[in-house]
Amino acid sequence: MKQLDRPVLFDETAFAARKDEIAAYVAGPAEEWARRIERERHVPAALWEDLRARGYLSLAAPAEYGGAAIPFTRYLELIELFSMSHASIRMIVHVVNGTWRAMDRFATGEQRRAFVIPSVQGAIKIAFTLTEPTAGTGADLRCSVERDGDTYFLSGEKHLITFGTICDYWLLFARLAGTRGADGTVALLVDRHAPGATVVEMEESMGVRGTDHARLSFERTPVPVKNRLGHEGAGLDVALGGFLVPSRISVAMSCVGLARRGHELAIEYARRRETFGKRLAQRQAIRFMIAENATDIEAARRLVLHAARQWEADSPEAPMLSSMSKLQAVEMLTRVTDKALQIHGGIGFWQPSAIERVYRDARAQRFEEGTNEIQKTVIARALLENSESNA
Ligand SMILES: Cc1cc2nc3c(=O)[nH]c(=O)nc-3n(C[C@H](O)[C@H](O)[C@H](O)COP(=O)(O)OP(=O)(O)OC[C@H]3O[C@@H](n4cnc5c(N)ncnc54)[C@H](O)[C@@H]3O)c2cc1C
Repeated sequence: MKQLDRPVLFDETAFAARKDEIAAYVAGPAEEWARRIERERHVPAALWEDLRARGYLSLAAPAEYGGAAIPFTRYLELIELFSMSHASIRMIVHVVNGTWRAMDRFATGEQRRAFVIPSVQGAIKIAFTLTEPTAGTGADLRCSVERDGDTYFLSGEKHLITFGTICDYWLLFARLAGTRGADGTVALLVDRHAPGATVVEMEESMGVRGTDHARLSFERTPVPVKNRLGHEGAGLDVALGGFLVPSRISVAMSCVGLARRGHELAIEYARRRETFGKRLAQRQAIRFMIAENATDIEAARRLVLHAARQWEADSPEAPMLSSMSKLQAVEMLTRVTDKALQIHGGIGFWQPSAIERVYRDARAQRFEEGTNEIQKTVIARALLENSESNA
């Protein structure tokens, strides 16, 4: 499938024009959407339609599926731009441009026509549904299914599910009742309106305002066996396998974009604000913070792009580099947004200061596609397993 991510011909001129167009969108219409989202505390359906109509939901998907087939490393240049916008806009673009990858590697022709292609084309919404309130994320999961003929009956709970109330299908991970660990896990496309499913919209979150998140419970919800991706036992491969490597890299680049926005806001403010007869931009303490932030951002961007190139080249180091890039970029984002807010002084702590939103949105990135603790676990495992096998 990765071959589909790498078209032989790539039109640099058209790409440069699209990049300019997206930069203008982020600076203009997206800011208007952002103000509306913050005011109404809700992502309007019209925003999804706007993004779909502009082709922003199908940038990374193969041409065969109706996508723009932009190679992964180049797509990251675009996600950096979208990430300078409201976090809910970035979330839609990132999720829709990535979820097809999780499904496609395991989909049959029929499933590709029913789920993958309609999702790329924006005809259906799919919510990635893994996290549970009563279990660790991954092999610990407790949602379970019992099979009866050509139907699974699903029971259990999920929470924190982005787009979980507005989606058409949950791409949900469960296990065959009675199994443990990764064995017996299944990936299912569960109809949002299936009987026995209770959907509750979660309370407002600190950042990524306006995006819906769902708390779900299932009581013997019927799911057709034909809606299972991959074989029984492959559930966690769909959720955490090859898909997670590019997705973590994309989240890492989202951190770069959001940090860049915070950094630009800090520079603008430092140029404007005068204290004790001088602009902040003339004070060495402030200049040092700006220099540190620029260096931090550039270093993270380079590591993210290195991880992306290694993934494109099928390097065995790509999974470790992907976790390294997410860890590094999100730590960088924390440092940069903290200093950017500091440069704004107290007024930056208040709405409608743009930095106030950036600071809140940045905190969410520490959870997306795995916490820092999980990234360190992945990196340490790769290093220590390699050194053991070399000993
Ligand atoms: C804005 C937002 C959107 C989200 N969207 C989705 C979504 O669409 N779909 C979805 O499935 N999930 C989603 N999540 C959930 C997210 O993926 C999880 O919050 C994240 O993976 C952490 O899992 P947890 O919340 O269960 O934390 P826990 O597993 O309860 O962990 C709590 C703390 O303990 C640490 N910890 C846990 N286990 C270990 C361990 N073995 N070793 C060391 N430290 C450990 C964690 O790193 C964390 O710091 C979203 C979360 C947020 C904040």
